[in-house]
Amino acid sequence: MEAIEKRHEPGHPSPNLRDYDDACARFSWAAARALMAQLPGGGLNICFEAVDRHVPLLGEHVALRCLTRQGTRRELTYRELAAQTSRFADVLARLGVAKGARVFGLMGRIPELYVAALGTLKRGAVFCPLFSAFGPEPLFSRLSIGDGAVLVTTPSLYRKKVAGLRERLPALQHVLLVRETPGEELPPGTLELEALLRAASPDRPVEPTRPEDPALLHFTSGTTGKPKGALHCHRAVVQHHVTGALALDFHPADVFWCTADPGWVTGTSYGIISPLTHGLTVLVDENEFDGERWYRQLEEERVTVWYTAPTAVRMLMRLGDELPRRFDLSRLRFIASVGEPLNPEAVQWSVRALPHAIHDNWWQTETGGIMIANFRAMPIKPGSMGKPLPGIRAGVVEKQANGEYAQVPTGAVGELALRPGWPAMFATYLHEEERYRRCFASDWYLTGDLARVDADGYFWFVGRGDDVIKSSGHLIGPFEVESVLLEHPAVAEAGVIGKPDPVAGELVKAFVSLKPGFAEGEALRAELLAHARKRLGAVVAPKELAIVASLPRTRSGKIMRRLLKARELGLPEGDLSTLEAP
Ligand code: ATP
Ligand code: MG
Repeated sequence: MEAIEKRHEPGHPSPNLRDYDDACARFSWAAARALMAQLPGGGLNICFEAVDRHVPLLGEHVALRCLTRQGTRRELTYRELAAQTSRFADVLARLGVAKGARVFGLMGRIPELYVAALGTLKRGAVFCPLFSAFGPEPLFSRLSIGDGAVLVTTPSLYRKKVAGLRERLPALQHVLLVRETPGEELPPGTLELEALLRAASPDRPVEPTRPEDPALLHFTSGTTGKPKGALHCHRAVVQHHVTGALALDFHPADVFWCTADPGWVTGTSYGIISPLTHGLTVLVDENEFDGERWYRQLEEERVTVWYTAPTAVRMLMRLGDELPRRFDLSRLRFIASVGEPLNPEAVQWSVRALPHAIHDNWWQTETGGIMIANFRAMPIKPGSMGKPLPGIRAGVVEKQANGEYAQVPTGAVGELALRPGWPAMFATYLHEEERYRRCFASDWYLTGDLARVDADGYFWFVGRGDDVIKSSGHLIGPFEVESVLLEHPAVAEAGVIGKPDPVAGELVKAFVSLKPGFAEGEALRAELLAHARKRLGAVVAPKELAIVASLPRTRSGKIMRRLLKARELGLPEGDLSTLEAP
């Protein structure tokens, strides 16, 4: 597939990163750190960098523009956000919540969530976002692993999901509720946040945190197993800022929309912190996916930079090429995607239908920020995740006979690894020190993903270590097979697994769901198998294919291949706390 060269569009500012090699040669983390305002004596605080530092120059600029479920909008300027987060920090201090204590947030994408997250950081406590659709058990396990001292939530979420857990959560001292209807009675054992905020001081200063002080606790998506609690420090803000400039091409006055929920790391690192450090207006949409409304929103809210995920892109693709043409998307300058591989077909579609290329980038909860990206000024090779950020050294490695890890030759598949030392790197998995240590070997952080690098230095995702299929001596990445299935006009989504086979070791089995207007049937199944065989060859193509109504996904939209496999083989289904309700 040919690389996509991009033209400079008149009327748009030129890219921040114009020459990749030059940017890498010039880059240093010390210089990146110097872009931060910092606190006296070398302190660093995410909230200060995201909010307070902007008040003198951008005080009246809108920081958060929240579109509510009721169809109204609530805006907070940088000055208002600074005052509200100070009040929240003061509330915590008055309640006796110590520096380093963990504050959990459980609510939809409402302004209070953003105030609680940033206010917790201002207090020097650790914020842990929870996805609001979690049921009681996933909430219990995360609150207890994280030793939650404070929970900020709404009365209805509290009644439905948390009240029954209180006895089992002795560390949980305070529950602060964001009232949904005025005058509504609050359950016993809770406090009303609004009243506390009113009584608190809007001038409480930022806690003088150090770069190494813990700031955020993020649970992984649970795609491959039980979610892990990755702890991040205030130093992460340096990377959030720099990657916003280089990978997302933030410019002053941008309106930025990140569709991820703050319950996942993307929704915090890039849905809150990164754009605010640049003084942008962040669009926050409380509502769920609706393709037509999304396109309208991009037009009406004059979004300039949009960060979304392959699952949303595939849903938009299902709605066809005509729909986006009804909207004026000319303000959009840059679109990026993360979370799962972005199939080449999706990139081609975006160029044709939006018409703007979607730029894939790769990172993990553990890395805290973007590590590998397709940059605005760089040609896109559809299906590639791009190149490492300046300041990041990535390699593809393999364990040697002596137990050490070494890089494999160009083009060969191995484990994607990173040289430790970037600012947003996690500090540990909470209560799982040993597991944390096992991620490091021979000076590399091992990501658990398989990849290859081509001669031009582009990285290509092959699959998660656990998902890769070994068939008749070949290593087959599910991504490659899924991408070919997605080329077929009938296919909406595809998930591919390895199924134990006495002869081949494993054989490739595909599950696909169909686009509207296509009917399941033996003829279509045979056609899909034939299409895959023609494009992939007999060794890599699926031997079995099932047409299903939908594929199991995490709530952050990732296909759960481990669940497809467990169901296929009749094995235990494992931790399902992040499974999207069918
Ligand atoms: P768990 O670790 O609990 O199984 P998870 O790995 O899905 O869950 P996240 O940290 O949210 O949790 O996701 C990071 C992973 O998502 C990466 O390791 C990679 O497998 C996948 N991923 C993210 N971005 C991309 C991308 N652009 N291309 C391919 N895969 C991606
Ligand atoms: Mg992971």
